[in-house]
Amino acid sequence: MEYIAETIALGIDSLILATCIKQYYKNKNAMAMIQGAPYLEINKDLHEIVATHPENKLSYVSIRGSVKPLGNPILSNSNPTVSGVIQLLRIKEHVIKRSTAGFWTDSERIIQEVHNVMPFALEDKGIQIEICDPLAADVLDMDVISDNFRPTVPSVIDHIWSFFAGVRQRGVQSTEKMLRIGTTITGIGELVSGKDGHLKLQPPANGGPFYLTNMRVTSLIKKLDGSKKNYRILCIIFGSIALVLSGLIVRKYIKLKKEKEAAEKQRAQLELSRRERRRQIRDEDLDENQLCVVCKTNPKEMILIPCGHVCLCEDCSADITENCPICRTEINYKHVAYGI
Ligand SMILES: [Zn+2]
Ligand SMILES: [Zn+2]
Repeated sequence: MEYIAETIALGIDSLILATCIKQYYKNKNAMAMIQGAPYLEINKDLHEIVATHPENKLSYVSIRGSVKPLGNPILSNSNPTVSGVIQLLRIKEHVIKRSTAGFWTDSERIIQEVHNVMPFALEDKGIQIEICDPLAADVLDMDVISDNFRPTVPSVIDHIWSFFAGVRQRGVQSTEKMLRIGTTITGIGELVSGKDGHLKLQPPANGGPFYLTNMRVTSLIKKLDGSKKNYRILCIIFGSIALVLSGLIVRKYIKLKKEKEAAEKQRAQLELSRRERRRQIRDEDLDENQLCVVCKTNPKEMILIPCGHVCLCEDCSADITENCPICRTEINYKHVAYGI
């Protein structure tokens, strides 16, 4: 396959381009949805506002308040003075791996990841809105409480083992993140009034992204806009690369096709002049049994192996490749017969 390098490059480029286009539209749609979501102050009027909407539901709104636990809060493992409502504990292994090309590259692997969640609400002016299913949020901002990297000190045996196994451990990283009590966050999602009369913010059913972020709505829109612009630039870059690669493939295809046609033409011309030359040097006065059994014009020139029959001229022998025309024996190869 003549185009293998270009095709692989085009395939990889198309995958990256598709991802960039997807991300661009994801950011664009999220931005449009958030811009269209009304911002509601958490206050005592909120119940009435929700009650005026069908099914006691506002499909996409943004609210802002401080995190309040509904029950006993979770205490941090690494700093007991910190308490929160969501805790993430993650243990990651950092290794250096030898790639198939023989280079050593950094890579990491999550060994363990645990989320602890307790019910909580966003509160402002004494009014609380419960947050449902916070782990389903597309963006969930949490504070890093601790982040430790413990390097591995390899022994001689480890060195030898890593040389053969192609993997060497660099160390273990343990991270703890928490959504702390009292943090002011913006929640963007579906606001409903539950059967118990409590207001709840939950993942939106309209497909919009669910956000629990410490950014304000304006900063969030700015960030999404920045990200959207970056993806647009990437789309242009990778789109151009795809065009260049496609152009190269088409150019190479046309060039190869032309070369093939020229070679074919040259071969045909050579063959024609060869036949003509042979015809000119042949003896014209030959009797019947000296003539090729196929064309009855040229002399017998080729011996067929293994049967040994000399019955064909060189021109006809080019077209007869399978069986001897006299005895039907399979032809293994042909050779010019001398002195016949
Ligand atoms: Zn012949
Ligand atoms: Zn034969």
